[in-house]
Amino acid sequence: MSHSPMMPFKDALNAIEKASSCLVKQEYIKLHHALNRILATDIIAGINIPPADNSAMDGYALNAKEWQANQPLEISQRIPAGISPQALKPNTCVRIFTGAILPEGADTVVMQENTSIDSAGRVVFNHPLSQGDNVRPTGQDVKIGQQVLTKGTRLTPQHIGMLASLGIHQVTCFEKLKIGVLTTGDELTAVETPFLKSGQIYNSNGPMLISLIQNLGHSAHSCLHANDNPEETKNALRTLSAECDLILSSGGVSVGEEDHVKEVIEKNGAMDLWKVAIKPGKPLVFGHVFETPFIGLPGNPSSSLVTFHWFARVAITAHAGGRVKHPQKYKVYPSFSRKKAIGRDEFLRVSLSEDNKAEPHPQQSSGALFASCVSDGYLHIPANQSIDQSQLFDFYPFSSF
Ligand code: AMP
Ligand code: MG
Repeated sequence: MSHSPMMPFKDALNAIEKASSCLVKQEYIKLHHALNRILATDIIAGINIPPADNSAMDGYALNAKEWQANQPLEISQRIPAGISPQALKPNTCVRIFTGAILPEGADTVVMQENTSIDSAGRVVFNHPLSQGDNVRPTGQDVKIGQQVLTKGTRLTPQHIGMLASLGIHQVTCFEKLKIGVLTTGDELTAVETPFLKSGQIYNSNGPMLISLIQNLGHSAHSCLHANDNPEETKNALRTLSAECDLILSSGGVSVGEEDHVKEVIEKNGAMDLWKVAIKPGKPLVFGHVFETPFIGLPGNPSSSLVTFHWFARVAITAHAGGRVKHPQKYKVYPSFSRKKAIGRDEFLRVSLSEDNKAEPHPQQSSGALFASCVSDGYLHIPANQSIDQSQLFDFYPFSSF
């Protein structure tokens, strides 16, 4: 057995991002189908938002220069939202409502609560005012010509709302990436199986990987399982390759003679096997099989989760045409110290206490998934670093991924 050096975490991340290019074409889709889809063009505002100066309040609009304390103004016009007003008559005010356009000549809105009506039905303005009060000027939110969204953005509900405000009802997005999932292992049985026979465990990575893919806004196009023999593994990979743009697998990539994924890929494609210096994690396969890009994750459930979060997420996003963002992180203090340093970047599953101290779950084994079910996220301990309670570390909530 050769002992190839481990690849540093950062190098593996960079290599994956560099090697993952967009695999999908563009299509024009309706806005109401665009949630979670990836924009294939920049979006430039074709109109101002708001398109005209308008009132932020229910009240009275006037020309600030015509205001004098205890000098009531006659109401010359009533302007609800949605109408196009006439110009302001000099030395009058207008009744105006939130969202209504300011008449030409008016520049200030006084909220209704700061006014009173005199016996002649005129408006008394008792409070001092400043020009522009309670006015939302043209283009306050977005100016015409401004770049609003960038190519590669995965559309959120806010983006959909913004596109609608701009009058954009169809957008150019990337076609959906077809992702195939392969799980491997003789010991695994489908979750529908009522009883486990001796030696069996349930296939948990299959459903977990499918949900991780869904969590990124994609869906698994096809999902297969192969037992530990070269024929089944090859057939499954060939089928997935014919149907999908990208294949993601779990297990079968370690060094044992029951690990057939590597062998099939070596014979029918090409691959790099990296021992990435992370814990949990380590073996990661990256290459192509039957001409389809392929990512092989380790089988241990926590290793699968961590390597998906860090590596598969990046590859899927980039292959789908998306812009890869570093996950959001916060600096926190650990609740404990540890003198011993290890040669790998470690992602401890931790909970945050009320005073924001990161407390590790006691069971950090790569085969144990429960810790990540009751923790808040990862505490990242860089390779070769001991842990000191007085030192800040990066905390990544699970929701960042
Ligand atoms: P492997 O990488 O195939 O050697 O698997 C490493 C460990 O992960 C073994 O204990 C497997 O039983 C377990 N494992 C592999 N695939 C899965 C899966 N799909 N669901 C749950 N456990 C798995
Ligand atoms: Mg296996």
